Amino acid sequence: MGLLNRVGVEERLAAEELGTTSECLCHEPWESYYILRRGILPCCHGSKPIAPMEDFERAWNAPALQEIRKHLARGRLSPYCLESTGCPIVQRHLHAQRTRERWLPDRVRTLGKLNRLLGGKPARLYYRLVRALS
Ligand code: SF4
Repeated sequence: MGLLNRVGVEERLAAEELGTTSECLCHEPWESYYILRRGILPCCHGSKPIAPMEDFERAWNAPALQEIRKHLARGRLSPYCLESTGCPIVQRHLHAQRTRERWLPDRVRTLGKLNRLLGGKPARLYYRLVRALS
């Protein structure tokens, strides 16, 4: 079995073990890691070392790296990744988050105006629906 196939199988098994079907956000921590003089990094965008360089054999299965993999396999960014702001995946995530935050208050305001305009009917329908479903 080729390295890339084995990585894919390991990743899928990890996701099944975690009970998730979410799309993995990044494959880097399953495919490679960087052994530098300043320490071990899970990817080239890593902000800080997860272990000293001398521990390179143990670092592959170290709790810090497992934690990063666990988050990514669940389709989320780990706290470590969120600190690595040079990563393009993190930048995309932060940009999407900022866009959502900017857009949400406008949406709430618009829905409020629409509700007032229609004499509160949308809100009454919404609450009736919520009550019927609960
Ligand atoms: S920092 Fe970016 S490249 Fe590195 S593991 Fe996290 S998501 Fe992947």
